[in-house]
Amino acid sequence: MDKVKVLEKYLPSDAAPLIGRWIDYFKCEFKISRNRGSKFGDYRSPYGGKGHRISVNYDLNPYAFLVTTVHEFAHLHTWNEHKQKAKPHGTEWKANFKKMMQPFFEKDIFPADVKHAITSYLNNPAASSCSDLNLYRSLRKYDVPKESVLTVEKVPLKALFKIKGGRVFRKEEQLRKRFKCVEIATKRVYLFSPVAEVELVED
Ligand SMILES: [Zn+2]
Repeated sequence: MDKVKVLEKYLPSDAAPLIGRWIDYFKCEFKISRNRGSKFGDYRSPYGGKGHRISVNYDLNPYAFLVTTVHEFAHLHTWNEHKQKAKPHGTEWKANFKKMMQPFFEKDIFPADVKHAITSYLNNPAASSCSDLNLYRSLRKYDVPKESVLTVEKVPLKALFKIKGGRVFRKEEQLRKRFKCVEIATKRVYLFSPVAEVELVED
């Protein structure tokens, strides 16, 4: 099937042709991948006879898919320019990410709130991949609602919840951004991101 037709299933349709051209121009192997939980996308530099490789999780909403794709292409472009001399999310990467987002801003692809979150993310010198909670939250709003998605920040204090795989925790107080949670089985303390998806457990 035509590359752009495939990309249109995952990206805002106005964005698909340009991403298709980048794949050709940068000679990149672009893969739509399963959900990897810990990350949205991945870039691998040429190694052992293989060229540039980018993969992006299939289950991101179109805006999150686009932001992640541009994020990974900015890694590719930075690698072409600087090889290993530039840090993964350093100033060179950041400048490229900013520059490569421009055509999508010009096409007015993003809703106002997402555009605002991306702009402040780009202007925050500490920002890296998905550590920006505002960006993550504003992108998440456009997910097709799953059945009763619950995040740690919405779990009542002292309530029990479980994570994928079944381990059960009790929610305790917030420390800066993250929440202290005690695993019931081991009594060990863990720190959870406020946006981690969990399931409530009845006492
Ligand atoms: Zn990255």
